[in-house]
Amino acid sequence: MDLGIAGRTALVCAASRGLGWACALHLARAGVAVTITARDGVALDAAADRLRAAVPGAVVRTSAGDITTPEGRAAALALCPAPDILINNAGGPPPGDFRAWDEAQWAAAVNANMVTPIMLIRATIDAMIERRFGRVINITSGAVKAPIANLGLSNGARSGLTGFVAGLARQVAKHGVTINNLLPGPFDTARLRTAISARVATAGRTVEDAVAEVAAANPSGRIGDPDEFGAVCAFYCSRHAGFMTGQNVLLDGGAYPGTF
Ligand code: NAP
Repeated sequence: MDLGIAGRTALVCAASRGLGWACALHLARAGVAVTITARDGVALDAAADRLRAAVPGAVVRTSAGDITTPEGRAAALALCPAPDILINNAGGPPPGDFRAWDEAQWAAAVNANMVTPIMLIRATIDAMIERRFGRVINITSGAVKAPIANLGLSNGARSGLTGFVAGLARQVAKHGVTINNLLPGPFDTARLRTAISARVATAGRTVEDAVAEVAAANPSGRIGDPDEFGAVCAFYCSRHAGFMTGQNVLLDGGAYPGTF
């Protein structure tokens, strides 16, 4: 399918691997010039090379830096000041018991998973409105719909972002700008494996066993492939998805048990 976005530009945050990289790949395949970010500049350059190898002729720029800091955002926006497409993403907050989290840890989680995407939307949305085309995708989590007990920082901070963009999406829809949230369930990325390793370290089980258990517990019988996530992201950025906005789209193999 022609996604109708060839020649557009995208800023894809936190994209040297995992879900962000897969989104950049599918956007590049659709002919979008992508600017990708991550903190580790060496891994980011390698990620850009993998994109260029996968999509010959792709326009790929890199901005190494922490997207949760004003400096990191300024550097990314200097390279890609007026993207048509903004993919908000950053690392997720650590797991734990809420009694252990002080104000600084809450502030860091809210900064990374709520304030940072809002600051990037603030910096880019008026130019989208002026051009009468814009796509904002926030990578959040299935935890927004069904809280995960030990991920209280994520449950809380991402829900704040979700509430804010629910309002904003309705304010900008008439200008051809859509804002949607993609809510991953378990996807086979470094983040998932790190989280699982921490859980099994003391239990005498291997990570592969634990990954297999997560897969078996999912209605689909497997965990997600980041490539599937990237393809859905690119569709939501496409011309065809212009009438879909303010949505929270679960990609979880059916794990969320609700009827709606
Ligand atoms: P991942 O495989 O660990 O990749 C994370 C990417 O983000 C890397 O490129 C990393 O590079 C970059 N990054 C992290 N913090 C950053 C920062 N402060 N500034 C710039 N770049 C940063 O993670 P993932 O699985 O793709 O997860 C992406 C998001 O989805 C996370 O918020 C995660 O919590 C959420 N999520 C994932 C799953 C899942 O099953 N995978 C499920 C629910 C929610 P550097 O480390 O070099 O910065």
